[in-house]
Amino acid sequence: MTNGLKRCSSCKQELSYDHFYIDTSRSDGLTVQCKECLKKMERRRKGSLPLQDNITCRAYFGVIIAEPYLIKHFQQAIRMPYGNKGYDYLCSKGYKIDVKSSHESDNGWVFNIKLNTIANYFFCIGYGTKQSHQIKHVWLIPASIINQNVSFTIGFSERSIQKWNKYELAILE
Ligand SMILES: [Zn+2]
Repeated sequence: MTNGLKRCSSCKQELSYDHFYIDTSRSDGLTVQCKECLKKMERRRKGSLPLQDNITCRAYFGVIIAEPYLIKHFQQAIRMPYGNKGYDYLCSKGYKIDVKSSHESDNGWVFNIKLNTIANYFFCIGYGTKQSHQIKHVWLIPASIINQNVSFTIGFSERSIQKWNKYELAILE
């Protein structure tokens, strides 16, 4: 933050303070993202704004979705810049969380863990079909359970869903 300008964590623009909402939980008293980005995020969450068909954008969408869940679970979640190595959020007690998302595939939801040993938890989002982008499940899984894998799958079967049940979080509206 310099010269009355602040950089939005989403669009990366340097904007004057009035482009941000007041957020007393932050050290500078302002939201991390600009008003415009927060409004867009809200519209996306409500499903009225189509996602651009662009991998980077879609990956980042998952990261944005994770934020309210992580705040609810850890009380604090600081979003790292896009492309941060190994994790997307730094939460209370120094927990590092990497966000993964998957659409329904033939066998289930496939999450690419890529042997990531930096993150402490993986926040895994299971979407419906590629077209709908509806969230079916979200799981917060301790890294030690899955980070020996390049990828892991949560199957559609009752048994598989049951197996991961203890890590599942309630879907937020
Ligand atoms: Zn912005």
